[in-house]
Amino acid sequence: CGIVGYNGTVQAAPLLLEGLSKLEYRGYDSAGLAVVNDKTGNIDIVKAKGRLKILAEKTDDGRAMQGTIGIGHTRWATHGEPSIANAHPHYSDDRQVVLVHNGIIENYVQLREKLEKNGYTFYSETDTEVAAKLIHYYYQKYDHNPIETLCRMMYRVRGSYSLGILFKDRPGELYAVRKDSPLVVGVSEDEKHPGTFIASDVTPIMKYTRHVYYLDNYEIACLKSDSIDFWNIDREHVEKEPVEVKWDT
Ligand code: GLU
Repeated sequence: CGIVGYNGTVQAAPLLLEGLSKLEYRGYDSAGLAVVNDKTGNIDIVKAKGRLKILAEKTDDGRAMQGTIGIGHTRWATHGEPSIANAHPHYSDDRQVVLVHNGIIENYVQLREKLEKNGYTFYSETDTEVAAKLIHYYYQKYDHNPIETLCRMMYRVRGSYSLGILFKDRPGELYAVRKDSPLVVGVSEDEKHPGTFIASDVTPIMKYTRHVYYLDNYEIACLKSDSIDFWNIDREHVEKEPVEVKWDT
C-alpha cells in the first residue's frame, strides 16, 4: 500500500527501506525492493512476506543491494494472498520491465488472456503482474519508447494505479505514472542525498525537500538523477509547478 523510488548518487536500498518505513502507517502484508545494479546492469529484486524488518534483514539493511536507482513497495493484497510470489516488484521474464503498483487493475483477467495468447506466462495471482507484462508487450511493440508504451498501457488498463517503473535498457531513468491512486515526486535539496524521489505521499520525501510535484491522473514522470520531466497522455511535455509542503510530521 505504499510506493517509494529513488534515482540519485548515493546507495538506493537503505533510502528506500527508510522511505517504506515512513509509509508503514498505511498498512501492509509484504514488501519488496528493486535496485539497478550498477556493476552488472541487471535489476536486482528482493521480496519478503510480513514485516519490513524481514526485508531489511534479507538485504542487510539495504547494504546487500548495490546501486543508486531503485523502487520499493509495501503491499496490501487485493488480488492473491500475501506471499513472496505475489509481493512486488513484478517483472517481465527477461527483467526488462520491473515495477511496483498501488491500486487495482479491474480488467486484469481480460488483459491476462490477451497476454497469454501472446506468449506471456504468469507466476502470481496479482493484477499487478498483468501491468508489468502489458508494459513489456508495448515496450517491444513500440520500439522501446517508454512514453508511447506508458500511454498505450493507460489506454488499455481500467481501474486505479500508481506505478514506479524501471526499464533495464534505460538505466539512468525511473518512470512514474498514475490514475486514481496518489503519487508525488520531488528533487532532493539535501546535499548529502542528491537525487529525485517518488512516493505515495510526502512523508518519505519531506526529509530531502519541501517542494513536491503531485502527479495528475494520466501524467507520466521521468526522473533522472537531478531533474524530472513530465508528459500528458497526448505525449506532450508538461511544465508543472512544485507545491511547498508546510506541515511537520
Ligand atoms: N492490487 C495489487 C496487489 O494486490 C496492489 C495492492 C497494493 O496497492 O498494495 O498486489
